[in-house]
Amino acid sequence: MARDFPYSKDEVVNKIFDAGVVGAGGAGFPTHVKAGARADIVIANGCECEPLIQSDRHVLSACADEVLDGLLIMMLATGAGKGYVALREGMPEAQDIIEKKAGGIAGVEVATVVNTYPAGDEHILVYEITGRAIPQGGIPPDVGVVVSNVNTLANVRRALAGEPVTSRVVSVCGDIQNPCIVESPLGVTVGDLLRITSNDSGLDRKGILLSGVMMGEYCTDLLRPLDKRMGAVVVLPRDNQVIVRKSLPVETIIRRAASVCCQCTLCTELCPRHLMGHAITPHKVMRAICWDRSFVPDLGGALFCSGCGLCGVYVCPMLLSPDRISYIVRAEMADRKVKAERPETTRVEPVRPHRLIPHQRIVERTGLAPYERDLKFVGALEAKRVTIPLTQHFGVPARPVVAVGDSVRRGQLIGDVKEGAIGARVHASIDGVVVSVNHSIVVEAK
Ligand code: SF4
Ligand code: SF4
Repeated sequence: MARDFPYSKDEVVNKIFDAGVVGAGGAGFPTHVKAGARADIVIANGCECEPLIQSDRHVLSACADEVLDGLLIMMLATGAGKGYVALREGMPEAQDIIEKKAGGIAGVEVATVVNTYPAGDEHILVYEITGRAIPQGGIPPDVGVVVSNVNTLANVRRALAGEPVTSRVVSVCGDIQNPCIVESPLGVTVGDLLRITSNDSGLDRKGILLSGVMMGEYCTDLLRPLDKRMGAVVVLPRDNQVIVRKSLPVETIIRRAASVCCQCTLCTELCPRHLMGHAITPHKVMRAICWDRSFVPDLGGALFCSGCGLCGVYVCPMLLSPDRISYIVRAEMADRKVKAERPETTRVEPVRPHRLIPHQRIVERTGLAPYERDLKFVGALEAKRVTIPLTQHFGVPARPVVAVGDSVRRGQLIGDVKEGAIGARVHASIDGVVVSVNHSIVVEAK
């Protein structure tokens, strides 16, 4: 099968920008910037290595043509001659569908990576598929590759048809009645999402994680709106170890680190980015934060932490949180504009293949096994009120272009980006009337 798209690079970049497409895998990086890069390989990332979540798996199965079109459009824009659809082992249904659909498309291949965590990390994925190691502090285009999540690629396809991003596929799962996958308008609150899909009356006794168990954020605010980056709402019992660790206040995790970090170095030895040859040593970050809070520039390479969560959620035998502490240090260093050192070459640790952590081992050790099940897609949600954040992407917030009292239609531009700034446009996700404009725009159905 051959698909020809009659677009120039500039047309692709502009249409993606107009539609407000951003990385749906979590980072929210504006996709028009990626489309503007040069690359020889584009990877459609469908690995979805976070436990329990199946949003990307659903998109791969239900929207395979759009994902493949999106991949081809990104190949066209970047000048890439090769495209891969990357899946994890253990996704047979999605693999079957995508292999059948991709069969015969020149330059496109389906690649399966070993089922370890974090298989979907861009650095890991690029290395596993192409053998190219991205230097510390680098990004895939540094080695001639662009990586886009499969949801993002489906949105790229829609963007070229003039359809802005107004909804997203989200897994609502874990310790709830009726775990499922839904397509929800952006801006629906986490509370409404849980109430509509699960109707679970015991939520006040449970903990909520947004976007995933490993990298996800502990959420106490049921009014938090769904945004373009959020692929999951995971509910777990309050006494689940992940909830316990992620809900501890920062002062407590630092106090505990000072008391009991035995400097065993396991967090460093198993760190996926350390194994990729990056100068990241979370045990040194722990040592520094406990005994020297001055944040000297060379703080164990915290700048190179991907936030994968492995060291805190799975590795540390003392139940500490080097992941959260690395995140704090990284944010401090970014605020101080500390620049990452970029070495000329990267030497992947020879021991790496022996230190990969199987996905299933994480599921079992973190008490998630009882909640593992095939999630069913239950269709699209309708919303009466949405709170659409002006920041749901990497870069500067969008500026509102509507006022209270304005009528809007789904897909209408409501937040724009200053020319030349990195950011993403924001659109109304339902028909209605604007009732509030602040850091978010609230729209109520008429
Ligand atoms: S694994 Fe835990 S105890 Fe060991 S060095 Fe890292 S933070 Fe400290
Ligand atoms: S969260 Fe921990 S394991 Fe993951 S990259 Fe950062 S330091 Fe390494």
